[in-house]
Amino acid sequence: LRKVDVAIVGAGPVGLGLAIELADAGLRVALVDRQPEAALSQPAFDGREIALTRGSVRQLDRLGAWQRIPVDEIAPLQSARVANGNARYLLDFSLPGPEPLGHLVPTTAIRRALFSAAGERSGMALLAGAGVASVDTAGRRAMLSLASGETIEAGLLVAADARLSETRRRLGIAAAMTEFGKAMLVCRMEHEYSHDQIATEWFAYGQTVACLPLNGMVSSIVLTVPSGETDRLMALDEAAFTLEIGRRLHHRFGRMRLVSTRHCYPLIAVYADRFAGPRSALVGDAAVGMHPVTAHGFNFGLSGQALLAAGLRQAAERGADLGAAGPLRRFEGAHRRATLPLYLATNALVRLYTDDRLPAMVLRYAALRAANGLPLVRREILARMK
Ligand SMILES: Cc1cc2nc3c(=O)[nH]c(=O)nc-3n(C[C@H](O)[C@H](O)[C@H](O)COP(=O)(O)OP(=O)(O)OC[C@H]3O[C@@H](n4cnc5c(N)ncnc54)[C@H](O)[C@@H]3O)c2cc1C
Repeated sequence: LRKVDVAIVGAGPVGLGLAIELADAGLRVALVDRQPEAALSQPAFDGREIALTRGSVRQLDRLGAWQRIPVDEIAPLQSARVANGNARYLLDFSLPGPEPLGHLVPTTAIRRALFSAAGERSGMALLAGAGVASVDTAGRRAMLSLASGETIEAGLLVAADARLSETRRRLGIAAAMTEFGKAMLVCRMEHEYSHDQIATEWFAYGQTVACLPLNGMVSSIVLTVPSGETDRLMALDEAAFTLEIGRRLHHRFGRMRLVSTRHCYPLIAVYADRFAGPRSALVGDAAVGMHPVTAHGFNFGLSGQALLAAGLRQAAERGADLGAAGPLRRFEGAHRRATLPLYLATNALVRLYTDDRLPAMVLRYAALRAANGLPLVRREILARMK
């Protein structure tokens, strides 16, 4: 039997961040992940490039991870634009002055840096390659049984095991899920013309294309298409794929070349009914799994993780029970207030701009004429980039 203060399921970036903060507060932490240690310490490229807000950069700095990300993996994001199919701009996200809007960093670099920072903390046990057999939070301590037969006893159990979280299901916490019937294909491509460090997203008939500016003449291309189309795109040989992407981008970047592997993600947004239960809490995508179009899932994961850590640190300083309802309820309220408006606005934006049926198209043009697209999304995002 392993006794700890907090047991976390999921050593993704959010689980790792939480474990570091809690270890720094002097708490004993067990971090459980089903992936083997090598995959956690040296994760393979997964196509995801994260647009980090300045708040997230500060948080990664506090965790001792920002300094470990190689400079050539960090690309400044000067501004971002959303356009419709005719390249007419609907939303423009830029800040006054020369300050970049944020930074683009591959998920793999963030995970590697957090893993290495976590390795320097004492009081943290990493149980890699470990499946969870059962959880029980009904008693005075949370009990977590692993498939290996090992049992962990903790004051609090935290689920950080992604948007289809098994732990959330085991805790009996329901979640609202929105399936968009679409999938994203992501890859890196080199191109002839510069992106000027500006991210662009085009909503067009039957597809959405986002181009995220990396360092040099390279962009991350994020193509959203009906789910059935991704198999064909993944199967195309390099030359045919490059031709098709060039055509879909109306050759805006001139000649292009595929410089990475291709990856596919189904589009499902998830919002848990509760972020806390008896002796348990949810963080990261397990709590709020955003549609990536407004690039905030990870940023919300980090801010939620910081909120929960702050509440637990205060409880520990008072010698209080970490699984007590009070601090968990405060975390839940604060995280909901921080995430729900943008979650709902993002889903509304996606529905409006990716629905190719006539009423939505008419509404889209009305919204276009009325103002700068959906002002709420713009305001919410700019407020969060600081
Ligand atoms: C294409 C794409 C682009 C994105 N771009 C952005 C962006 O620009 N900005 C942004 O803020 N966010 C972005 N996101 C979202 C971001 O990637 C996620 O919000 C973030 O990775 C969530 O981190 P997490 O730690 O909660 O979960 P994950 O990164 O999914 O990690 C979960 C961990 O839990 C483990 N696990 C899962 N199930 C179990 C289990 N049953 N038992 C044990 N371990 C388990 C997994 O092995 C994994 O290590 C994007 C996502 C996608 C798909």
